[in-house]
Amino acid sequence: MKSAMREIAGCETPQAPRVTQKRKPLSREEYVAGILRGDRLVLARAVTLIESAREADRALAEQIVEDCLPHSGNSIRVGITGVPGAGKSSLIEALGGYLISGQKQRVAVLAIDPSSQISGGSILGDKTRMTTLAASEMAFVRPSPSRGMAGGVAQRTREAMLLCEAAGYRNILVETIGVGQSETAVHEMVDIFLLITLAGAGDELQGIKRGVMELADLVAVNKADGANVAAAERARAEAENALHFFPAAESRWTPRSLTCSALTGASIRELWECVLEYVALTQANGWFRKARREQQRRWIDEMIDQALRQRFDAHPGVRSRVEALERDVAEGRTTSFRAARMLLDVYIRES
Ligand code: GDP
Repeated sequence: MKSAMREIAGCETPQAPRVTQKRKPLSREEYVAGILRGDRLVLARAVTLIESAREADRALAEQIVEDCLPHSGNSIRVGITGVPGAGKSSLIEALGGYLISGQKQRVAVLAIDPSSQISGGSILGDKTRMTTLAASEMAFVRPSPSRGMAGGVAQRTREAMLLCEAAGYRNILVETIGVGQSETAVHEMVDIFLLITLAGAGDELQGIKRGVMELADLVAVNKADGANVAAAERARAEAENALHFFPAAESRWTPRSLTCSALTGASIRELWECVLEYVALTQANGWFRKARREQQRRWIDEMIDQALRQRFDAHPGVRSRVEALERDVAEGRTTSFRAARMLLDVYIRES
């Protein structure tokens, strides 16, 4: 049920009744042709393949991604983070609306939600979010894949992003909640990183003290409306101050802060103009391409790490010894270093 909902998000409103009839399987060529002509249903089905745990689906997904790769890359990739309640989905709705109606541009929204792997449910995905945007023909909205480790989810989101680009989406918004590793994972796959904060919610709670601010190219203090305008402006000034303490970035971009309101739409245009300014600057000075190339290099490393780890963990020689060795370490009969060395030796010798 959940995956069916996920699949149709972006093609119908999330409340639309589920279509239960079995669909005809598509060939690799049909998938690729569908994606390249911007067919949202085919795109959604391809993303489902990417997220599938079935070996055959994954193999087909890999081929599709490979075929789409030459058509990808031509987009602005924006990472968006902020604690639950900061207004991420409201802001994405507002921004998406602005891009679609104001700029006549299509928008894809992807997400990485670490909570979905722990609980099976998700903070980002389970509530009905971005319904207006998801109902638009010009938008593709996809909640976080809920399977696998953080790295695995990041990889699937990256692949989904490439397919969206091949389908002609020039604006990709990748959303995450402000906890743990997911921010770094999103930062590693986008061109510009946007932190959404709130006045008076406390720096500790918003992760500002734990380094998220350092990742941000742009800090948006949301909910600057009604009685909250002055407090939001004060929070913005504080953020601006904090941003100045960070060393100059290699991109030569000076991080900015602004106040906005997803509710009234105030400064949504300014926010996007800031994104465009960043893109113009970094494209002109070469950082844009350089950063993407470095990201791709790190993705290779990450894939290798994951694949090796999986093989290592599945290795029968390793599996048969690991528990006893862990016990030996716990009970002080050997060191962690020696235990790791022994397992690696077994793996190398018996591979
Ligand atoms: P998320 O958890 O970060 O995605 O936050 P939501 O977008 O779900 O917003 C959390 C709550 O804040 C909702 O009740 C929104 O209606 C409200 N909200 C979001 N943006 C604004 C805003 O700009 N102004 C005001 N006053 N409320 C907002």
